[in-house]
Amino acid sequence: MQIKLFNTMSRKLEVFQPLTPGTVKFYGCGPTVYHYAHIGNLRTMIHNDILKRMFLENGYDVNHVMNITDVGHLTNDEDDSGEDKMEKGAARDNKSVWDVAQFYLDEFLHDFDDLNLMRPTAMPRATDYIAEQIDLVKKLESLGYTYKIPNDGIYYDTSKFAAYGQLTGGSLAGNRAGARVTFNDGKRNPTDFALWKFSPTDTKRQMEWDSPWGVGFPGWHAECSAMSMKLLGNHFDIHTGGEDLSRVHHQNEIAQSEPITGAPWVNYWLHWSFLVDKSGEKMAKSKGEFLGLDAVRKRGYDPMVYRYLITLGHFQTQLAFSWDAMDSAAAGYKNIIRRVADILADKTPGSIEQGVFDTWHDRILAPVSDNLKTAESLVVIQELLKDTSVNAATKRELFVFIDRLLGLQFIDRAEKLLAQENITAPDEVVLLAEQRIAAKNSKDWAQADALREHIAALGWAVLDSKNGYKLVKKA
Ligand code: AMP
Ligand code: ZN
Repeated sequence: MQIKLFNTMSRKLEVFQPLTPGTVKFYGCGPTVYHYAHIGNLRTMIHNDILKRMFLENGYDVNHVMNITDVGHLTNDEDDSGEDKMEKGAARDNKSVWDVAQFYLDEFLHDFDDLNLMRPTAMPRATDYIAEQIDLVKKLESLGYTYKIPNDGIYYDTSKFAAYGQLTGGSLAGNRAGARVTFNDGKRNPTDFALWKFSPTDTKRQMEWDSPWGVGFPGWHAECSAMSMKLLGNHFDIHTGGEDLSRVHHQNEIAQSEPITGAPWVNYWLHWSFLVDKSGEKMAKSKGEFLGLDAVRKRGYDPMVYRYLITLGHFQTQLAFSWDAMDSAAAGYKNIIRRVADILADKTPGSIEQGVFDTWHDRILAPVSDNLKTAESLVVIQELLKDTSVNAATKRELFVFIDRLLGLQFIDRAEKLLAQENITAPDEVVLLAEQRIAAKNSKDWAQADALREHIAALGWAVLDSKNGYKLVKKA
């Protein structure tokens, strides 16, 4: 099936052509592990996962690399000033930097699994690739792209890279204006950035390494160039990240990489729009107050409901998060689960009708392959649920595919629902339910309601069904 993606670099929808037939090499910027991931970060990870699943379903092998930033990300990305986020996290939590990194990485992976995100092929940590980052800086130095600011670090001279700014349509002027307020005196150009920072002379850093330029640590951007080229090669297909990364981080990654590769580095750039609050403010870890997936769990939502909410939107549009939006997503998700459970419970004999399967398969995959329009595929899925001409066996097989494509675990949740409903009610509850049917038959509505309440007090819900009633254990 033809795949189309909106490429930030060309600002156009482009037909995807892999560098190697049948394979996608894809790098997605991962988390800075100094704090819990918030649900905005996780939105970004969900979009990466949808992208990957779409390729898998189209028959590609996907080599997906996601970095773990555990060093060098300063609180002010724009001018390489401020504290190292990791050291800041360590001071806040009263732990070593290494322990902080491990703790938040584990927490992040817990969220990752709860959202049914496929683990990347590789998850390199910046601190495991210091030699590669030093090597990158050495190469840039030998090519004449660097200069030193005493007592500060080795910087990249962006005026030497003619294409600088191409990712945001040459909006270099905007970058300059934005950076002016905190413009570092020693820089030759406001957009220049640190490749290697020197350790301060008055305090000891927990993470620091020897280098040809002195003891210090790599600038944040270095890791993504060094690790992606090491793990995916000098030219790869796709690079992704949240929308904030296009203006500085990705621009700088290109500037670091293309002088070395001597050719275009990445073919397709995808940027996921932010999750914002009601007033349109970006959810940010640095603000201190943010919602993690734990807040979603604590409010009693299945993490899948959050994934479903993201699937209802599109990556090029910001999404305003609210608990009301979660409530309607929960209702929609539950509704699908109920109907999938009915399909699973349907014991009508029948076998998979291949032609019917193929038609629906393609109808559901097509919008996702067309710039990841997941919401449109959910509309087709609703249509499938309503279509009585498709037999249960075919529908079941289609939901196996839908779960692979969208990762929404419909079958798993439907099976759990059925298991819960199939728990046999104790005799006492069954007796009350029988009495309620008798009361209903004699139109004694008050008695029927009282019996329903009695049953509820014993932890069961009684539902009317075609053959009488159904008893469901309450969660
Ligand atoms: P960080 O952990 O801050 O390095 O961010 C990890 C990823 O989450 C990056 O790709 C960011 O661009 C992305 N991101 C940060 N904030 C948001 C947000 N509010 N909505 C969506 N993605 C975000
Ligand atoms: Zn990156």
